[in-house]
Amino acid sequence: MPGPLPGHPQSEGAPRVEVVERPDHDKDGTMTTVPQPTADTRWRCTLCGNLTRFDVTRSSKVVEYVHLDLAGEPTVEEREVVSETIESVRCRWCNAVDRIELVDRPGAGS
Ligand SMILES: [Zn+2]
Repeated sequence: MPGPLPGHPQSEGAPRVEVVERPDHDKDGTMTTVPQPTADTRWRCTLCGNLTRFDVTRSSKVVEYVHLDLAGEPTVEEREVVSETIESVRCRWCNAVDRIELVDRPGAGS
């Protein structure tokens, strides 16, 4: 009877949680009134100048790998964001909706 296999740490049974995100948004014709901030731009409320606090309404299409145990308790083990659209952004300071513009982040582009 051979003993347990050497050099084989317990790699089975541990559920892997993988979040697959696609940072490269294609412009696939989805209508968005909200400009997307990029690596060197950020949102700014055009009415009050708020840079930091917004309520973002986002709709996303997500594929989830749901793994149910024998008791029927579901666990999401993988989640893939298929598409994501920002529907509206409301300023937390003045409650203006979609009154935002893109400005340069500090230190960007200088
Ligand atoms: Zn504002």
